[in-house]
Amino acid sequence: MTPHSSSQNPTLLEVALPVPLRRCFDYLLPPGQDASALQPGVLVRVPFGNRELVGVLIKIKTESTQDLGKMRSALAIIDTRPALDSELLELCLWAADYYQCAPGEALQAALPVLLRQGEPAHLAGEPVFKLTTEGKGLPEGALKRSPKQAALLAALQTHQQLTRTDLDLLGIARSTAKNLIDKGLVRIDEIAPNQASQPHNLLREKPLNLSDEQVAAFAQIDYSSFTAYLLDGATGSGKTEIYLQAIEQTLRQGKQALVLVPEIGLTPQTLERFQRRFNLPIVALHSGLNDRERLEAWLRARDGIARIIIGTRSALFTPLKEPGILIIDEEHDASFKQQDGFRYSARDLAAVRAHRLGIPLILGSATPSLETLHNAQQGRYRHLHLKARAGNAKPPEIQLLDIRGEILHEGFAQASIDAIGDALGKGNQVLVFLNRRGYAPTLECHDCGWLANCNHCDARMTVHQNPRHLHCHHCDHQRGIPKRCPSCNSSKIHPIGQGTERSEVVLQQLFPAHKVIRVDRDSTRNKNGMQKLLVDVHSGEPCILVGTQMLAKGHHFADVTLVVIIDADAGLFSTDFRGAERMGQLLLQVAGRAGREQKRGRVIMQSNHTDHPLVQTLVKQGYHALADLILQERHITQLPPYRHLALIRAESQYAQAAMDFLTQARQLAEQLQAPHPALQYLGPLPAMMEKRGDRFRYQLQINSAQRKPLQQLLSQLAIQLEAVSQAKRVRWSIDVDPQEMG
Ligand code: ADP
Ligand code: ZN
Ligand code: ZN
Repeated sequence: MTPHSSSQNPTLLEVALPVPLRRCFDYLLPPGQDASALQPGVLVRVPFGNRELVGVLIKIKTESTQDLGKMRSALAIIDTRPALDSELLELCLWAADYYQCAPGEALQAALPVLLRQGEPAHLAGEPVFKLTTEGKGLPEGALKRSPKQAALLAALQTHQQLTRTDLDLLGIARSTAKNLIDKGLVRIDEIAPNQASQPHNLLREKPLNLSDEQVAAFAQIDYSSFTAYLLDGATGSGKTEIYLQAIEQTLRQGKQALVLVPEIGLTPQTLERFQRRFNLPIVALHSGLNDRERLEAWLRARDGIARIIIGTRSALFTPLKEPGILIIDEEHDASFKQQDGFRYSARDLAAVRAHRLGIPLILGSATPSLETLHNAQQGRYRHLHLKARAGNAKPPEIQLLDIRGEILHEGFAQASIDAIGDALGKGNQVLVFLNRRGYAPTLECHDCGWLANCNHCDARMTVHQNPRHLHCHHCDHQRGIPKRCPSCNSSKIHPIGQGTERSEVVLQQLFPAHKVIRVDRDSTRNKNGMQKLLVDVHSGEPCILVGTQMLAKGHHFADVTLVVIIDADAGLFSTDFRGAERMGQLLLQVAGRAGREQKRGRVIMQSNHTDHPLVQTLVKQGYHALADLILQERHITQLPPYRHLALIRAESQYAQAAMDFLTQARQLAEQLQAPHPALQYLGPLPAMMEKRGDRFRYQLQINSAQRKPLQQLLSQLAIQLEAVSQAKRVRWSIDVDPQEMG
């Protein structure tokens, strides 16, 4: 009895595709493909509408909710070796689910571009020349008429295989090899790239002797299972030294280390520090790599050739052959959260990944995020403290300078100017911090009060002098600086307030004998721009650095003894509930640049609100007191980390369309979840900047005392919203654990 072919269930492939739909797609097995050779994680080329896409195989199955009659065949299996191992595949799917993102889009974040374009996922090995069977069978004395070819043949008979370098050493030209290949006597093979053999000496330099405090922290780390550690230590307290020694332990066990740093923290300085210490291959994953280099680094990590992987946010998804430890430096940094598309937090996912892998996670910061502090206080993370600065460095002395009623010289109080002159006079360097690029934040008419607004946003245009123009930092719109007021025709229009360009000009006038170096997004746009600018600083010459938060992170300026913060209050009155936390973190990170070595540092904070309790607490009692104060507030006002938050955002050229969509979203949510005591809704409300780039922006906030009901609601709601007709008229997104409330 032969089975009826149509009654036999066909083999189906469930594939995640890079499209913004929260589901997978089913395909028939490509003709002639053996299903038993396939595993989840394999890349598959499939037809989608009239396009071809590369997707990730999630499951092999025999049943589908899709109509079998209309189902199309996958076109090809790109490589039967899975591009993603089950660990990464499951992590991505977990994350897609948690962050309410389409599975294909989350998986895309984990895959290097070239793999997504269908390149095979293996490292190109080194080519070697070998004899073919015919070549081996050649009698001695053959090829007499070509001595060079005969020489190569003889060499191959002795050595079996030769690399290009071997040919060079033997003085045999490549063309000779090619001639023999053409004759069918020699072929090219590839040998796998060298597996990292444990070198005799893993270290290139001797580790520092840890201080008692460092030892106490270091000794707590358990390498054999999952624990999250908060390494809470002032800037310069020796956290990096602990990372290095924890990595050393990991390497000794034959395992790999993955280190994530903020976007701006992956400086050559950081890398050098790792390279100076270790004698094993390190790869750095940063935005400066081209697609080929990125793929290469990714494969080296996957194949276990790279032993230390250092990268920014997306490096969290690097495959690891022998994972041993995860480290997140400056864990409070906002760049660990992706702000568009797949809105994941690399810091939070690192905890998920380390937990699944059963390996330790170290979260390091001088100014831990309140979420992480809360986790430590609740006992979920182990809290390790480093209070003193390492070596002989002393903590900087912070001075709050009341500038109310002071006559300022283009933003600078006289006391600040004197202190700068004093430091330069002693041959030291000065850092001036102002978190606003451009010349001035706005242009104003003295006669009628007209302000240069952006036509496309609810925002002012920033004045830039070099080149001269008005620039909206929110939508990038640019226009010329008018000579007369567009409203009253007065010629008295002036830039108001301070930006880094203006401070640079003023400081150069005040201190003509010294170099003033401006560091912001404009001055570092070119490749290696930052490095070029900082050459002078690292030479140790007395000079003034003036810049934005780009200066606050990761840099080690040995000769900076004075930090002047022009506007310490910026952020104090932010409408984002994280404003105060961010202000505290930024101010202390900037302050931490002072006096990192032998010279004692001093910090001057100019403030108009010296008696504000948050400012007072920060300066008198430090970051942790500030954090406690803010946590108490968050507890009372029921905000994270005491409640879980999600934002549904919508924007459109038509304000009403965005509002209608969110109103419908709220109705749907309330229907889905019969009034649940844990869930609360707020909105729809206008975003902080209601209009931006000609779009009107609104948001619906959903918060919950427990994570689970929120997750369940969002999963169902997301699918329903995709089907809502309004959804096509607006741009909408779901942000779980949002970091920016705007
Ligand atoms: P952090 O990462 O906390 O900012 P680092 O590890 O960069 O601190 O240390 C700050 C400085 O102190 C560096 O120059 C480092 O070499 C030095 N340092 C760290 N630990 C020690 C130690 N145990 N003994 C001497 N110097 C140390
Ligand atoms: Zn005017
Ligand atoms: Zn604008």
